[in-house]
Amino acid sequence: MKVLVPVKRVVDFNVKVHVKSDHSGVDVANAKMSMNPFDEIAIEEAVRLKEKGVAQEVVAVSCGVQACQETLRTALALGADRALLVLAETELQPLAVAKLLAAVVRREAPELAILGKQAIDDDANQTGQMLAALLGWGQATFASKVEIDSGVARVTREVDGGLETLTVKLPAVITTDLRLNEPRYVTLPNIMKAKKKSIESLTPEALGVDVAPRLETLEVVEPAPRSAGVMVPDVAALVDKLKNEAKVI
Ligand code: AMP
Repeated sequence: MKVLVPVKRVVDFNVKVHVKSDHSGVDVANAKMSMNPFDEIAIEEAVRLKEKGVAQEVVAVSCGVQACQETLRTALALGADRALLVLAETELQPLAVAKLLAAVVRREAPELAILGKQAIDDDANQTGQMLAALLGWGQATFASKVEIDSGVARVTREVDGGLETLTVKLPAVITTDLRLNEPRYVTLPNIMKAKKKSIESLTPEALGVDVAPRLETLEVVEPAPRSAGVMVPDVAALVDKLKNEAKVI
């Protein structure tokens, strides 16, 4: 079985981003960039499937600027066998990414695509669902456990108030939740080995995909600053404030 893992290059989760002065977006110039954390979990899951003998090949794919090669090198160092870069210098919205990934799926014919449940920069939580819809594949989102057997994926999902387990026939799309696994650390020898692997480059044109944005960002603003807290002398005063000021009890 071949597993395709789309990985997105995003601002590192430790970086505090600021809104640009013209309110057109956030300023990411010179910010540290990393692999989207949910995608690290997706790579880890795919590599574990390979280690168990369930999968034979793990292919990582990233859509975006040339620097996405770094993200793909990390995927290779984590255990992916091959990497594909879909080079696009313009902004890619989730629908465009889903269309590019669908075109890559048609070329590569994987039986499983494991994506992150959301990218921590746009928080869209759309690409996996759109990809499944474009391909006509089943989908199991927010997976916290995945077992593959006889052409079927058995996926446990964290839902409000408990765990839901469902089965989905392959080929399918799975998106990862935080508790699916703990990704391994990238070791220096594996980073060195990953440097030697080649990354295939494609373009949206070659894949026949129109990536023109469909959504227009009107304005991005900083969240309102939080007002300072107050010290209360005792529990009775706290309860009084919660009841009469905050009106939450
Ligand atoms: P989103 O729908 O933007 O929240 O992203 C969900 C998931 O889709 C991510 O965790 C990635 O697995 C995948 N994805 C989104 N954008 C890209 C991209 N530019 N390149 C590769 N994968 C992507």
